Amino acid sequence: MRISGVNTYLVRPRWGFVEIQTDEGIVGWGEAVLEGHASTVAACVEEMSDYLIGADPMKIEDIWTVLYRAGFYRGGGVLMSAIAGIDQALWDIKGKHFQTPVYELMGGSCRDRMRVYSWVGGDRPTDVGAAAKERMDAGFTAVKMNATEELQMIDSYEKIDQVLERVGAIRDACGKYFGIAIDFHGRVHKPMAKILAKKLEEYDPMFLEEPVLCEHMENFKEIAACCNIPIATGERLFTKYDFKRLFEAGGVDIIQPDLSHAGGITEVKKIAAMAEAHDVALAPHCPLGPIALASCLQVDATSYNAVIQEQSMGIHYNVGKTVLDYVKNKEDFEFIDGYVKLPVKPGIGVEVNRELVLEESVCPHKWKNPVWRHKDGSVAEW
Ligand SMILES: [Mg+2]
Repeated sequence: MRISGVNTYLVRPRWGFVEIQTDEGIVGWGEAVLEGHASTVAACVEEMSDYLIGADPMKIEDIWTVLYRAGFYRGGGVLMSAIAGIDQALWDIKGKHFQTPVYELMGGSCRDRMRVYSWVGGDRPTDVGAAAKERMDAGFTAVKMNATEELQMIDSYEKIDQVLERVGAIRDACGKYFGIAIDFHGRVHKPMAKILAKKLEEYDPMFLEEPVLCEHMENFKEIAACCNIPIATGERLFTKYDFKRLFEAGGVDIIQPDLSHAGGITEVKKIAAMAEAHDVALAPHCPLGPIALASCLQVDATSYNAVIQEQSMGIHYNVGKTVLDYVKNKEDFEFIDGYVKLPVKPGIGVEVNRELVLEESVCPHKWKNPVWRHKDGSVAEW
């Protein structure tokens, strides 16, 4: 079998799909996007397609290595997201060729279903208590919320109190044992992160996410020492080498590599194994589309340390289109009691609605995250 074509499509709300065609008629789909830089990643995939046309799609590890090593420059969000989408599409082809889900080709599953959580509250969280209760009534056992809005390096205790009130509202609405994940979103700097982490302890959160940015990964240990709450991070790390430094720095309990940013299934499977060796849990980042989600579930299926999966149904970013719009086999993505079944279809597990993808890509989206500023006019982390 040989690769005969590589196509990229930008589709709403903010995603990028890759389609790899073969001379045997098997087609693989991947999701290659870096939110806010979708057309840059699509251009990168097109550039990489010079290495793909005519290659044997079954040799995933070799193709991955060519894309990573042979281009001399490596790593970072753009290159690794392009590789990620291509890698997912190649696994999709391999699974379809052998008529089996991808996880069967990676040793088989070590669980029957995967726990998932739901987002509440949006960019500027309000009414999270009611929203979380709604998710709980729908069967979810955990939600994630943004902790704060803009927060300066040294900011007011009023904003700290507002965070505590919101988290307290979820605890009151959903009970003592409901999972509450709190995403600092890299908005918080070390001085305030330490205060917030310590004060949030009384609400027993499931984890604190990106308490500071990974540029400051040496500070996770200090923040972890302030509180008895698991620390999660990793959505802005892109390779096993990035994660190696994270494990060396210490202080992190849960890693959140993104299957569409960190080199795809091939690389994240390796990163997951590195985490397992450090007794660190895996909770793949996935505020993206159906192919990214199904790819995550393939890795979750075979990773002992996978604890919970992010998914973007109902997330505030999904405007105009949502996850299942592009999926023909919607029944495979049903959430029951806060869990999703492992994918059952051959390949990644998504029967893509190609007609809709083509229709959407006629007017490519230009999604960008907002630029936030503090009251003094300086740029705030979003
Ligand atoms: Mg996050």
